[in-house]
Amino acid sequence: MTVKHFDLASDIDHCSMCATCTYVCPVFRRTRMEGHTARGHIHLIDAFLLRPGGVVNTDGTIAVSDAPKITREFEDMLDCCLRCYKCLDVCPSGISTVNIFEDGRAEIARRRLLPKLSDTITSLILASRTRLHVAARLGWLGQMLLSLFWRPKHVSRGDESLGSARRGADVRGRSAFKSPADDAFWFAGDIAVPKIAPRFFLGSDFARARAPRRKKALVAATNAGAVSGASLEEMRDSIVRRERRQRVGYLVDCMTDTLYPAVAEATVKVLEAAGCEVVIPEDAGCCGAPLLGTGDSAGFARMAKATRDLFMSLDCDYIIASNSTCAKTMKFVYPERLGDGFNEFSERVRMDFEVMTLNLDKLRIEKLDELIGWHDPCHQRYAYGVYREPRELLRMCAHYNERAGENECCGFGGTFCVDFPKMAQGMAADKAAFLRDNPEKEIATTCPACLYYLNQFSANEGAGRRAVHLSEIVLRSISERA
Ligand code: SF4
Ligand code: SF4
Repeated sequence: MTVKHFDLASDIDHCSMCATCTYVCPVFRRTRMEGHTARGHIHLIDAFLLRPGGVVNTDGTIAVSDAPKITREFEDMLDCCLRCYKCLDVCPSGISTVNIFEDGRAEIARRRLLPKLSDTITSLILASRTRLHVAARLGWLGQMLLSLFWRPKHVSRGDESLGSARRGADVRGRSAFKSPADDAFWFAGDIAVPKIAPRFFLGSDFARARAPRRKKALVAATNAGAVSGASLEEMRDSIVRRERRQRVGYLVDCMTDTLYPAVAEATVKVLEAAGCEVVIPEDAGCCGAPLLGTGDSAGFARMAKATRDLFMSLDCDYIIASNSTCAKTMKFVYPERLGDGFNEFSERVRMDFEVMTLNLDKLRIEKLDELIGWHDPCHQRYAYGVYREPRELLRMCAHYNERAGENECCGFGGTFCVDFPKMAQGMAADKAAFLRDNPEKEIATTCPACLYYLNQFSANEGAGRRAVHLSEIVLRSISERA
């Protein structure tokens, strides 16, 4: 399967140098370096990859060299980007900025003699859910062993009377899963990483009980005309089921699975309270987004095809994710990069809260007497393009006042927070200060990476705030009534 690459030369030629992208770029606002803007990135790509001859000076200016080559400075400039899509959202020329950056990285990877070690490790671990679980389990063991010799600095989430973060997990049966609101942070120097969950979501009894059964897959395949010979009884089952409930396939992303399984549990509980049948294929892998980011186009295509084939075999009305990065990748990037064969799949993709919103009449939400804030994950707002719906759902579930600054990036940005930790931490600290200045003690969002970063820095900065997933808030609001 071939991955469509953008016509770099043509797209770059359409850049009018208007600088609209400059004003919205969170990185440029910190560094004031032209090479960090979308305009700078695409002209660097032009100079280095299309018309070799460019070179980046140490002060960030670009000059022409007689001996062009891909330099560390060029790569650093290109890597110093949150992939937040804000530039793509505002570009009046409709330039597909982030996609151009990804293609630039893919081209650099292609020209490299040896692949980058971190990219190779990412590709290896994400190639299957089993490998991810093995790696995460080893990480968990490492954390446990280290705790024997070195006392980790656990961060207090502060006053337990803040909201009722665990109550959502308690309704409809107690939860054994770890929530983003739990005290579970591990410190290595100044860097805090979330403690890996002792129990992953996939593989748990809760998830297994929702695994698609063989018969359903057979019926689905028969309905799709792929297999003949299903019995009348099987076909009747399928028709009855279709009339009765919406069938929702749930791609549980890697972070939610291994770090915040209570989020996945809350999502399932809400959708089931809304009358949906949720199916969770345990052999679903990664959506492939991280591989596209590292320039591994072939790996991305392989994962996208596997994800599409698996979920299409389940005959779902909707395919959901509770991570906005996975949702935007499956809905928009698959057909854009891999062609029309993904259209039918992508049309069924939704964010989890969209399916909740479609079934509000069955949820019987009762508004919590709590003031809860909101954080826009960049990929939800600027890449998936949804702004109002999650706010409206939050407003139904709790008291919510929209505030300027909700759309400021948390600073995570995938590998950005690893490659440029000081800048990422500065952004996160600013966000934590913003949260501290507002009265809301809990902040709802829809991205596990934002949950990690918001909670880490809210704790570090003494902001006394905690981030929770929107599904957890919705679950609390329907507790014991629906
Ligand atoms: S907003 Fe678009 S057209 Fe304007 S400088 Fe940026 S990339 Fe070029
Ligand atoms: S994706 Fe975000 S960080 Fe990267 S250039 Fe665009 S606005 Fe700047």
